[in-house]
Amino acid sequence: MKKKNVIAIDGPAGAGKSTIAKIVAKKLGYIYIDTGAMYRALTWKALDEKTDLADIDAIVALARKTDVELKNSGGKLLVFVDGRDVSSEIRKENISKHTNETASMGGVRNILRQKQQEMGARGGVVMEGRDIGTCVFPDAKYKFYLDASIDERARRRYNQLLKKGEKVNLARIKTAIAERDYKDKNRGINPLRCADDAEVIDSTHLSLKEVAKVILDYVGLDYVRNKKRQR
Ligand code: C5P
Repeated sequence: MKKKNVIAIDGPAGAGKSTIAKIVAKKLGYIYIDTGAMYRALTWKALDEKTDLADIDAIVALARKTDVELKNSGGKLLVFVDGRDVSSEIRKENISKHTNETASMGGVRNILRQKQQEMGARGGVVMEGRDIGTCVFPDAKYKFYLDASIDERARRRYNQLLKKGEKVNLARIKTAIAERDYKDKNRGINPLRCADDAEVIDSTHLSLKEVAKVILDYVGLDYVRNKKRQR
């Protein structure tokens, strides 16, 4: 790739988007942007301030005035809300459960989409989320839709949490992921959907390394093809 492009990675919860996006960004020297973290950060702020999640005007106003900063530090993503590090807090179950409430508000999506477009305007970013290839960067040169079976996604999340030393229940995790999928795919505004021109990758039987290789091969191959065409 000569020009610095936008690489969009969308897909449902637990498909491995974050890990893959981080690997791909590192390999290409691109910036990794986790848009889910921005919706989570806003939800954290609303709950922290005890703003009613059903009060659309209040949540949109909060989205407008809240400063959310993403920092890549030593392979880890740090998330700051108005200067406070909330990286771990925004990953808690309660935030996962409520984030689709703020994310289903058109006013919130407009504000965050604009921020995401500014962050990716100069290219050189791997941006992951639910609507990157369809709404945030519909003209992105590379679009991937990363999926996996619900059982596999639940199993991965279970192992992740277990590693962190959390008390977990596989059946509960599976139900929570299924609920999140349903809400993300069926909301009225910018639902999770595969862009028509996205490459679909089913990672059910692939390791993280294998998925990253599929993406990097695809991006690299395209670069070789373009170079040949230019000759
Ligand atoms: O990616 P992650 O699971 O952290 O996203 C949390 C939630 O944020 C998703 O379930 C979805 O409701 C919302 N989201 C979204 N659009 C994005 C990224 C995340 O609506 N681009």
